[in-house]
Amino acid sequence: MIKAKQLVSADKAPWSSGDPIYIIQDAAVVVKNGIVIDVGHWDDVKKRYATEEVWDFGDSLVTPGLVDPHTHLLFAGSREDELERKLMGETYEEITRKGGGIYKTIRETKNTSTEQLKRLLEKRLEIVAKFGTTTVEVKTGYGLDPEEELRLARVIHSVRSYVDVVSTFLVHIPPHNRRDAYLKQIIEALPWAGTKYVDVFCDTVAFNVEETKTVLKTANALGYRLRLHADELAYIGCSDLVEELPIDSLDHLLHSPPENAEKMAKRGVVATLLPVTILALRTQKKPPVDAFRRHKVPMAIGTDFSPNSWCLNMQTTMELAVYLLGLTPLEALMGATANAAYSLRLTDRGVIAPGKVADLVVWDVPNYHWLAYEIGRNKTKAVIKRGAPIYLSSS
Ligand SMILES: [Zn+2]
Repeated sequence: MIKAKQLVSADKAPWSSGDPIYIIQDAAVVVKNGIVIDVGHWDDVKKRYATEEVWDFGDSLVTPGLVDPHTHLLFAGSREDELERKLMGETYEEITRKGGGIYKTIRETKNTSTEQLKRLLEKRLEIVAKFGTTTVEVKTGYGLDPEEELRLARVIHSVRSYVDVVSTFLVHIPPHNRRDAYLKQIIEALPWAGTKYVDVFCDTVAFNVEETKTVLKTANALGYRLRLHADELAYIGCSDLVEELPIDSLDHLLHSPPENAEKMAKRGVVATLLPVTILALRTQKKPPVDAFRRHKVPMAIGTDFSPNSWCLNMQTTMELAVYLLGLTPLEALMGATANAAYSLRLTDRGVIAPGKVADLVVWDVPNYHWLAYEIGRNKTKAVIKRGAPIYLSSS
């Protein structure tokens, strides 16, 4: 049984701004075999479980474990040199067209052994857990040939970690001069991906709407769930695809027309916002948060960890969601818990309630406002996965 000063959780997912929320002062959570079996006020719960061992975090906040619904966690090498180039005025598109960006990472990943890639991924999963992430989505996407993409999918599936991994096969970027042949090969490889999701980078430097539709239609027919990188660098109609395909989540949305929020709401599509990438792109564009709020589109947030935006920390993502995008601290927390889980259609986590997986974070702060209010410190005190601590702060 865990004792907390404050417990905050949605009562259901998805959660939209204005929906009910549990904020319990002096709370208790009871866990058995990795599952939450009771939650409520300390005074009430302790009567029902008088003999239970107590973990006393009576001065701390407890929330659901964080879920990071959008990462490119699996690649080799790095691109720190491109930061200076961007600061000198080169755009992400220009760097990519000159063979840098994604193409550089693809070369470095190809030259790295399967064992080494697995170790890199496991190391990164260890780091995310320290910041409170207990479930993370991981994409392929640095293959550029179907065999290599399938190798990356196998690495994701073979990884050993306390953090749960949701796998996505990402159709990331076309090779120069042979995009039609590549697309055909990718579609032939799709049945072997074995991932939960198929995702496409639909944008000016990547795949157009027609190509994206072809991939997603095939993936849908094969039984994969769908998500989409949409409207990140420009609006070319990618987010409109929610009207034609059962897409769970549209991600980025920096250039989305606000009226598309209504289309998303009608189809139950999550807007997964990636504020760290906005910094990395050095753009002034922002997603239409007010329209999402107005139409009750559930907003999730993710790190978008990649060689272009190197951030493994969901706390930074929450802080930027508030200070950069204007989400409230509560919206940011729901975006990192209930709605992030819903973005991945995981119904057994993201909220603290009887019957749900006991993934919890104990925070070294007294209330949820602090999670976004204080910038830059790792605020986790204990990270609990299926009822067992996987990280304890030494301070
Ligand atoms: Zn991405």
